[in-house]
Amino acid sequence: MSEGIVTLAAGREKTIERRHPWIFSGAIAKEKNAVAGEIVSVVDDRGQFLARGYYNPTSQIRIRVMTWTDRFIDEDWWRTKLQRAINGRLGRYGDRAGGTRLINAESDFLPGLIVDRYGDWLVLQALTLYIDKNKKMIASLLAELLPIKGVYERSDVDVRDKEGMKEEAGVLWGEEPPELIYIHEGSIRLPVDVRHGHKTGLYLDQSANRLMLPDLISQNPSMAERCDVLNLFSFTGGFGLHALTLPQTFVTNVDLSANALEMGKQAVADNGLDNKRVEWIEDNAFGFVRGEFAEERQYEIVVLDPPKFAPHEKQIEKAARGYKDLNLYSFRMVRPGGYLMTFSCSGAISPDLFQKIVFGALEDSKRDAQIVQHLSAAPDHPIALTFPEGEYLKGLLLKVY
Ligand code: SAH
Repeated sequence: MSEGIVTLAAGREKTIERRHPWIFSGAIAKEKNAVAGEIVSVVDDRGQFLARGYYNPTSQIRIRVMTWTDRFIDEDWWRTKLQRAINGRLGRYGDRAGGTRLINAESDFLPGLIVDRYGDWLVLQALTLYIDKNKKMIASLLAELLPIKGVYERSDVDVRDKEGMKEEAGVLWGEEPPELIYIHEGSIRLPVDVRHGHKTGLYLDQSANRLMLPDLISQNPSMAERCDVLNLFSFTGGFGLHALTLPQTFVTNVDLSANALEMGKQAVADNGLDNKRVEWIEDNAFGFVRGEFAEERQYEIVVLDPPKFAPHEKQIEKAARGYKDLNLYSFRMVRPGGYLMTFSCSGAISPDLFQKIVFGALEDSKRDAQIVQHLSAAPDHPIALTFPEGEYLKGLLLKVY
């Protein structure tokens, strides 16, 4: 089958020349032999080669560029690109017993493909039709490159709908994973349910931020006797587990998912930590913070890590109100001299806008705060400079007075 050719409209080659990987339908003048889920070459209006990418007429993003080099994309190309991404993971992210994002889609110049490692298993997400068609080949290559027992697919994500695909999950290569895989994150063992857990099983992007908690507590003399931590949107309690490694810490975890809380409770016991120092509260965080405020409860540290409130730009305003509300109550609950660690994982909300929203909440709370550190996703989630959309997770570590 000959490769399709897509010709861009005159003057629409700019974003491609700047190496942004997405080509929208409006930029296209002509399509010849282009097949859904297959590679096409992209040329300018004079027929000059620009890039090679994969095509899907069902998606608004008609082409996702894979390479700017005029070379065919075959198994060897894939092997080299997968190896390059794997080699790019630093330090502890190469750790076999740990959890690591190995392939970060567009941000690793491999649009539509997510691969996370949990110990001896890989979890793969195929977000686009071309990746879906090639997932078995990709899984076999990964098994060639890494000493693993299996590759499990977790393509049960709604973005596949935009590509005209159904959700899928199951073993792609090798053995079935166990019910729970335990990975190391610092001194803590975290349970990962790759079949049912959120995302590919864990919020790996927050790993480096979770690891900050023990130092934050031990370096503050005012927390030497006792440190109360409120972990809002806790999932399996990861932030709290790290805090609990210090004996003076008491943690309140709040999440809507009973399953996640149950796994967290088990993880506390498995790590030899004391569940008497932990509260597991299955509740809506919006209501919970109001109740705590009414009772004048205060904490040395509040971690606020809500889910994505703004999947699209249209929801920015509503999302901003949600973030402001939660941050306002969180400020009020921090004991003077304590910390608020606040996040947003909405790609549509820029770091600048997020900071403004948090500032608005601070104003209403009548408290004072300093930015101690800007926070982002862990280093195994690199962001391509050409793809700023990849910078979805941002956070602030604030000292609150
Ligand atoms: N901090 C966690 C990740 C949080 S992800 C970690 O480090 O692993 C967001 C979490 O918010 C999910 O676990 C989801 O179950 C929970 N959630 C979503 N809406 C909620 C709500 N209104 N109230 C409480 N929890 C909610």
